[in-house]
Order: sequence, then structure tokens, then C-alpha cells
Amino acid sequence: MATTPDAVDAPSRSGLLLSARGLTKNYGRDRAVDSVDLDIPERAFTTFLGPSGCGKTTILRMIAGFETPDAGSIVLDGRSLAGVPPERRPVNTVFQSYALFPHLTVFGNVAFSLTLRRHSNVDVAARVKRALDAVHMTEFGDRYPHQLSGGQQQRVAVARAIIAEPHLLLLDEPLSALDKKMRGHLQIELKDLQRRLGIAFVYVTHDQEEAFALSDIVVVMNKGRVVQKAAPLTIYARPANAFVADFIGAATLIPGTIVDNGVASAIDTAIGIVQCPAVEGLAIGDKAVLAIRPEHVRIGVDGLNATIRHVVFKGDRYLIEAEVNGIVLQFMADDPLTPGANVGLVVDQERAFITRID
Ligand code: ATP
Repeated sequence: MATTPDAVDAPSRSGLLLSARGLTKNYGRDRAVDSVDLDIPERAFTTFLGPSGCGKTTILRMIAGFETPDAGSIVLDGRSLAGVPPERRPVNTVFQSYALFPHLTVFGNVAFSLTLRRHSNVDVAARVKRALDAVHMTEFGDRYPHQLSGGQQQRVAVARAIIAEPHLLLLDEPLSALDKKMRGHLQIELKDLQRRLGIAFVYVTHDQEEAFALSDIVVVMNKGRVVQKAAPLTIYARPANAFVADFIGAATLIPGTIVDNGVASAIDTAIGIVQCPAVEGLAIGDKAVLAIRPEHVRIGVDGLNATIRHVVFKGDRYLIEAEVNGIVLQFMADDPLTPGANVGLVVDQERAFITRID
């Protein structure tokens, strides 16, 4: 259904686009992807987020057909992808290295897959124009890749990937070679493009800010497994375990023992007993982790007795590190504080949270 003149047709039914079960890939004796189940909705922006080597790219390559799973299934548009070669899948990929053909113009690069499929010249020209319009590169059709900036080359790579009207666009760290400012611009453009096209994007990054800026759903991975799959706000505010809490944003993780788990939960830690919103599945006596982010901490007269250790200028404010009973808490302040000074620190017990160790 076209929503704008430059939109590419997308599947009209709503619901699930891709579903994988028990997806597993080994390289020699190493398991890169370990029994992953996935449901990717149509028209959504889904991002795989995790540290280097956790298996994100391998999952993308199995969806694209560049790798064959050792176990498990992938169903796309209701059909199994087993044995379907990459060029026959309704999927296209944008890579980190734009991989444009240097000897072809922008037009030639974008048109390439269509000319292989013997479309008419008029049809090719109209489709290339639509794809270049969509990425704001209409004026650049005659240029060669070396005459473009990195950001422009990546826009061309995206135009080339959407021209065949895939049902699913896979993007493997497409912005990581660009500087921070260009990345910010292209993030906004990609998100906008995904909405306009109405096709599902599956994106891979190890940058959590990028994942949050772009995604409807974030799939956090660690060591070949999916650790949490949720909307960005849930991932940030209610991480499934200590790994996610640590990987996503700054957090001080303090080990402790659950001492109450009723309407609220309470955990006994080195900074005392802290009460937090209730956590499911933890019982009194269980070991768990208290997570406190910088925005959960403020200075207050009746607070914990803390000593300022480090003060880091962040441009708009100061990041302060202060020690309480051997635990370092971080918080933001408008003014610099003096290392060695004593302050009271209040932890916002509604927003700090308790999470599982793993
Ligand atoms: P990055 O963010 O660094 O790209 P990733 O999460 O995408 O990492 P993968 O590229 O999927 O990780 O790799 C997962 C694991 O599989 C890694 O340990 C990697 O070294 C290994 N691996 C990936 N491809 C191969 C290969 N062709 N042969 C052997 N091992 C591989």
C-alpha cells in the first residue's frame, strides 16, 4: 500500500512478517547463534543490539541466505526459507561498507539489480528516480561513488537495496563508518524512510543510543542468545538482568539479597536496604542486583553519607562520582563539586530497580 508517491509497495496484511525458531549456527566448535526464537512484525523497526561477537550479524546473514543454519527454521511471509537462495528471498541487505560499484554512476548502481532482471528502460528510470527521491539523492544520479561523501554513499546503498521492493530490509551497522553528526542525520532519515515505505527494517548495531533512536523493538543479545526483546523504554527502565542493565546506559550494579518481595521489593546491599518496585520471580533469600542510574541519584540532606571522588565535565553538566561504603554512585550536577567533599545522596527508590543476576 503506497502511503506517499515514493513509497514502495509492502505486504498488505498486518501481523507477523518473519518467524524463526531454534535458530542455531556453529563455526567449528564455537556456537555463534544458540537456539534463537524470533518474531518480527511487519512494518516495524527491529534492532539487534549487543556486544561485538554476540551473533547479531550471523542472524542477519541467515535471514538473508548468506549462511545456512545448523538447526532451526525461518519462515518469511508464511513460507519456509530453507533452501531458498539469497537472490530469491524478498529481502535485501545494506552493509556497513557501502559496497557500491566504483565504475558505475549512482544511477547505474541503483539500477543494477533491475537491469539484471530485464526491466524496460522507462520502468528502470522511473524506479531509480523514486528510490533516489526517497533517500534525497535525486540530484546525484550522474556522479560516481568516489565523488560522494560517506553519508551520500550510504544513502545510495539504501536506494539500491529498496529498489527491488523487498518485504524486509536488513541493515548491518550501516552508519558505523560515519562521523557522529552524519550518523545522527542518517538515523533520522532512516527512521523516516522506514515509516514512509512501510516495510520492516531489521537493523544491527552495538550502539545502544542508535538502537533507541531508531527502533520500535530492541532485541538485546549476548553470547549467541536473545536476552531481552522489548520496546526501548522497557529495555532501559526494566532490564531483564544485570547484563542488560549494564550494557544499556550507565548503571551502578550492587549485589545483594532479597529481603522482601511483596507490594514492593527490598534488597539488602552494601549501601543498606533499598526498597524498589516489585520484581516478579524473585523470592526472599535470592541473590539479585540493585541497579542505580545517574538520574536516580540526587543530593539531599537526609541521604546516604557519600564522598565525592571524581568530577567529569560533560559540556552541559557535570558527571559526579561519589563513594558510599565502597560503592561508587554516579549523578549529574549543574555545578562542579570538590573531590573529597562529603554530601548526602538520595536514591529515587521508585526508579532504581532490582534485577536478576542472569
Ligand atoms: P560485531 O558487532 O563485531 O559485528 P556480531 O554480534 O555481529 O559482532 P557475528 O559476526 O555474528 O557477531 O559473530 C558471532 C561469532 O561467530 C563471533 O565469535 C565470530 O568470531 C564468529 N564468526 C562469525 N563469522 C564466522 C566465520 N565465517 N567463521 C568463523 N567464525 C565466525
